[in-house]
Amino acid sequence: MLKRSLIFLVAGLAFHSLGMMNPVFSESDDFKNHLMTMTILYDNNPYDHRLKTAWGFSCLIEFERNTILFDTGGDGRTLLENVKILNKDPKTINTIILSHIHGDHTGGLGSLLREKSNAKIYVPGSFHQEFDRGGKVYGATVVRVNAPLEICPGFHSTGEMGHGIKEQSLLVNTPKGIILITGCAHPGIIEIIKKAKTIVRKDIYMVIGGWHLSSAGEREIKGIIEAFLKMGIQKVAPCHCTGDRAMAMFKDAYGKNFIQAGVGKVIQIDGSM
Ligand SMILES: [Zn+2]
Ligand SMILES: [Zn+2]
Repeated sequence: MLKRSLIFLVAGLAFHSLGMMNPVFSESDDFKNHLMTMTILYDNNPYDHRLKTAWGFSCLIEFERNTILFDTGGDGRTLLENVKILNKDPKTINTIILSHIHGDHTGGLGSLLREKSNAKIYVPGSFHQEFDRGGKVYGATVVRVNAPLEICPGFHSTGEMGHGIKEQSLLVNTPKGIILITGCAHPGIIEIIKKAKTIVRKDIYMVIGGWHLSSAGEREIKGIIEAFLKMGIQKVAPCHCTGDRAMAMFKDAYGKNFIQAGVGKVIQIDGSM
């Protein structure tokens, strides 16, 4: 998978390593009276039946001047087909965040950059050096993330986490609270939430994405749900690699606060909500 995700990356690009910036959301990050739209562009769980499901994850976040893509799915063709059906314009994407190196999160990047060059791509700091070189072909800038980092007002990376597969997750400040978006949650979903809470210094309102619980047993999932509730997570939207059993158990536990997620699901956060 590593090889596949690196195929498109071939030339040299200046290496950007940004130090740790103020990780706490500031007053200017206030989203009051503004509509934020999150659309799942790529997922293996069906939702909008016009779209193609495939193994992987990608979520588009539109807010004012920023259009941010979190992960690119496994296959560029499927990604771009879904983008087209949803009437989105890839050229408006100014920032791409890759959670981790696995092909089901990075595989669509090459096709996307052919549509939209000169984007800024935020990747975990441990990504192979080859990766930086590829960005230049498309005029993209690669930013390596080690510590928690403000990507733009209202958007923070948790910083690279994990001992095996390194991964970053995204924190979005909304009028309803902090939303945490994860790719595969390889460092452990609970560990990621704990880290997120230390960054924003408040509870997390909603968690969206893949939580890597496909092979987890009932007892383990039960413990995770209890931890979610104890940590004050109000809404959950699990998808991608969370697994059917975990998704069903979260649905039971969260009731109306469980958001059925899958490809094409749109979550809007409005200042007036
Ligand atoms: Zn993965
Ligand atoms: Zn994955």
